[in-house]
Amino acid sequence: MTYTSTPEVQEMKARVCALHAELLRWGLVTWTSGNVSGRVPGTDLIVIKPSGVSYDDLTPELMVVTDLDGKVLEGDLAPSSDAESHNEVYRRMPETGGVVHTHSPYATAWAARAEPIPCVLTAMADEFGGEIPLGPFALIGSDAIGKGIVETLRGHRSPAVIMQNHGVFTIGKDPKSAVKAAVMTEDVARTVHISRQLGEPVPIPQADIDRLYDRYQNVYGQQPAPKEQ
Ligand SMILES: [Zn+2]
Repeated sequence: MTYTSTPEVQEMKARVCALHAELLRWGLVTWTSGNVSGRVPGTDLIVIKPSGVSYDDLTPELMVVTDLDGKVLEGDLAPSSDAESHNEVYRRMPETGGVVHTHSPYATAWAARAEPIPCVLTAMADEFGGEIPLGPFALIGSDAIGKGIVETLRGHRSPAVIMQNHGVFTIGKDPKSAVKAAVMTEDVARTVHISRQLGEPVPIPQADIDRLYDRYQNVYGQQPAPKEQ
């Protein structure tokens, strides 16, 4: 089958490119250590950052388009070295529309201790529905990272996993949701870390976590205005 680009592919290249600026803005990345990818809706086409290009030099044209096996269909540069981990998630969690990877410092400090981040903040219950789970140690360059992400996140409410001794992977319905989850992961990792310096954080009872999660996921936000009678 021959590949032809579409306006939807070009649109996703622009979105994925622009979202990398958010990683910088929120202090989640150093040098070229993080990456965002997005699935072109309704297709098996993945748009991802090229490897080793500085965030300031990224343009939509430099974004790489691959299939789910990582075969480059569009773009002159090699995809991010984390592309295989992203693709494993897209292959095995087909509802995923965006994936983000960072080594954001507070969350990665938890990863270095191989400790999940306990659910001790209402914001965590809202966004993650519980703790942020820990994924296994996996060597870079193997398919073990992708497998570890999928095995940890499947059946879990959390859109974020901290991979032991490595860093953060987040997923979302689109790349922006995955970036939001990465920003929130670092935010709560920092707050819970500070709390730990002061003493032992108090867990939220599971029933309250469930209520908070349900409200945030189903009720919170802009609702349609009631209709005039
Ligand atoms: Zn990494």
